[in-house]
Amino acid sequence: MAEAGHSDSALLLDAALENIPYGFCVWSSEFRLIMWNRHYLDIYGFPVERMRKNMTLEDVVKLSADLGNHPDQTPQQFLTAYKKELRNNRGGMRAKARELLAGGRTIETAHVYSPGLGWVVTHEDVTEEIASTEIVQKRKRELERQNIRLDAAVNNISQGLCMFDAKERLVICNAPYARIYSLPERLVKPGTQLDEILGYLFDTGMHASSGSRDEYIAWRHEVITRGDYDKTILEFGTRIILMQHHPMKDGGFVSTHEDITEQRQQEARIQHLARHDALTELPNRIQFLEEMANSEASIERGEKTAVLCIDLDHFKSVNDTLGHAIGDKLLKQASARLWGTTRETDVLARLGGDEFSLLLRPIERPGDAATIAERIVKTMSSPFIIDGHQIAIGASVGIAIAPQDGASTDVLMKNADMALYRAKSEGRSTYHFFEKDMDAAIQKRRMIEAGLRAALQLHELRVVFQPLVGLKENRVTCLEALLRWTHGERGNISPAEFIPIAEETGLIVPIGEWVLREACKAAVGWPTEARVAVNLSPVQFKNKRLFETVHAILAETGLPPTRLELEITESLLLNDSEQTLQTLHRLRAIGIRISMDDFGTGYSSLSYLRSFPFDKIKIDRSFMRDLESRGDSLAIIKAVIGLGHSLGMSTTAEGVETEEQLKAVREQGCNEVQGFLFSPPLEAGQVAALLAADQKPQLRRAS
Ligand code: C2E
Ligand code: MG
Ligand code: MG
Repeated sequence: MAEAGHSDSALLLDAALENIPYGFCVWSSEFRLIMWNRHYLDIYGFPVERMRKNMTLEDVVKLSADLGNHPDQTPQQFLTAYKKELRNNRGGMRAKARELLAGGRTIETAHVYSPGLGWVVTHEDVTEEIASTEIVQKRKRELERQNIRLDAAVNNISQGLCMFDAKERLVICNAPYARIYSLPERLVKPGTQLDEILGYLFDTGMHASSGSRDEYIAWRHEVITRGDYDKTILEFGTRIILMQHHPMKDGGFVSTHEDITEQRQQEARIQHLARHDALTELPNRIQFLEEMANSEASIERGEKTAVLCIDLDHFKSVNDTLGHAIGDKLLKQASARLWGTTRETDVLARLGGDEFSLLLRPIERPGDAATIAERIVKTMSSPFIIDGHQIAIGASVGIAIAPQDGASTDVLMKNADMALYRAKSEGRSTYHFFEKDMDAAIQKRRMIEAGLRAALQLHELRVVFQPLVGLKENRVTCLEALLRWTHGERGNISPAEFIPIAEETGLIVPIGEWVLREACKAAVGWPTEARVAVNLSPVQFKNKRLFETVHAILAETGLPPTRLELEITESLLLNDSEQTLQTLHRLRAIGIRISMDDFGTGYSSLSYLRSFPFDKIKIDRSFMRDLESRGDSLAIIKAVIGLGHSLGMSTTAEGVETEEQLKAVREQGCNEVQGFLFSPPLEAGQVAALLAADQKPQLRRAS
């Protein structure tokens, strides 16, 4: 309390002291308390009655300690330090010092020395202030940590990210954001206006807008004002960017930007792979069927469309003989040639293997499809040169026309495929239109193929024997083994029908071997030395071990080779392979006789007779049939028989059904005849009886 002087000025000072918000006291140079205010007492907890003017500092300190102040030091320590402090500072304002008081409070003191008066000391309770700054400090540290984390997160995600406040000022953006749009440094500074960035994006072409700069900026604003999540794919140049807009509660927004160019390219690549053939790059079956399905609507509207199924001829043998690497190159070149026959609106696809298909849309008339098919057959028939190999293949084409042959993808594909089947069975390198009856024909073919596979196991096959009669000998000199098939459900099926299919499918190999064995087995039991003739298909000659097979069957059955005749046709010699001739020579060398069957049909080249020393020529029965009607038939028979004589080959006339025919061939010097006039093919069990009777020469024919 201020020393109570009874003057107005003293009262005034008193009031002033009481009203300043600090504790206040004055110590004389002898460390005696001269003046204090109420705050001072409150801060230290000094009771008013204990305070006297001129109290010593020692007394005050002691009182203070008794009240629990300065718990961190003894009264003596405090006193010494305090005195030293005051003495040392007789100059200006002393820097603030802190004291710890009872109850964990902290006060801050400052003093100033005034020469006439002593030390004026102020005391301020800063307990709360300290506490609050500590909280602030802690918050600040936390925020810093959070910011570091946020920064790390923002800059370590691969997406571009930016945040704008409600006034469209940039708050934060990360490095990928700047990188995606090549933003200059000045535009990624916090506070940058969105429009500045948008303007820059527009000017540098990094936007997908087709309108003006203003329209572009307006569009972005529109998205922001709408305040909804938004997702946009921006495509500009070769780049594709996925932009997502996330509005925030405070009116600002965050947007993320992801460069998905590569991802899209990869997706597109995968898409492409799924729909294209990797080797030729042509659309595959999936894509083709889809394109066809897309055409169904225009077909319904009456637009003419053609589907061509294309199959390479002899591709398999190229693959087998020259290897897959060359096969692949051939497919590539072939597809390039096929491609050359197409128009922009057509779809050419590789369905698999050596199968292609072509959708011609639109066409005006079926003839247009024929023109293209012809072009395909022609272009594929000229040889390919691959790695120094000259390779001749060819292509067969089947055509179905929409809407007349069907309107749906399924039906059109099936019908084009059937037409292709026909083209192939007609000798390949040709095209064929679908016809209404093809379905049944093909069904039958498929039935035969499936039935044949089972026929051997089911014992549906048997061999019959048709006699050949020696005209000079006047007895059966030979019997030809002929295959018969009685299908479980369909009854007898003619060899003319099933042999070609057996050849195509390769089934002729095991079946032919079985016939040979059956024939030899039968012949061994015959009562005479009559030979047995067995037909060999060219396909059987593809087997490199044919000679060994024949040899083994002879050994196994015990039939002398001289009693076996093998009938081959001209078509075998067509390919004139060294290996075939070699096999024929080896067979002949062990005493087997080789006959040229059906001579005069097909290729009819006399030169074939010179390529191998045949033992027998069998003149095709078509000449016998035409003997009466066509004059040149006799001339040909005559010529062949003459040729046979001069080449040392015996001649047989096939299909002799009448006495007239017999007379004619006999007159020409034919050695042997075969035909219904003498006997149809006989069941195996009937042969022995015939031959036994034959030993007493009395044939049923007129002599
Ligand atoms: P091919 O080798 O020319 O056999 C003679 C064919 O003429 C037989 O027909 C026979 O029944 C028939 N034929 C015989 N005499 C007469 C006649 O006076 N008039 C008429 N119109 N026909 C007569 P098939 O048995 O129907 O055999 C047809 C063809 O099937 C054979 O012609 C042969 O090329 C083939 N073939 C039959 N069996 C086999 C076999 O086991 N293996 C092979 N690779 N082909 C066989
Ligand atoms: Mg024959
Ligand atoms: Mg024949």
